Amino acid sequence: MSSVNDALDNARFTYEQHMRTCRQCHADAAPCAVAKHLLRIYNLARRDRMRATGPDNPTA
Ligand SMILES: [Zn+2]
Repeated sequence: MSSVNDALDNARFTYEQHMRTCRQCHADAAPCAVAKHLLRIYNLARRDRMRATGPDNPTA
């Protein structure tokens, strides 16, 4: 039941942890290739959740 939310939380956690720990993102002040990849996964998971819960659900 909560598998969609788990995927979203997991994707967000992975992305946020990368942003905290990636030297390249901090050095360039721009997302590196890995960050872009993780962000895309996060956006896809968020879109899946919106599709599952309805478009009226506010995004955090
Ligand atoms: Zn990075």
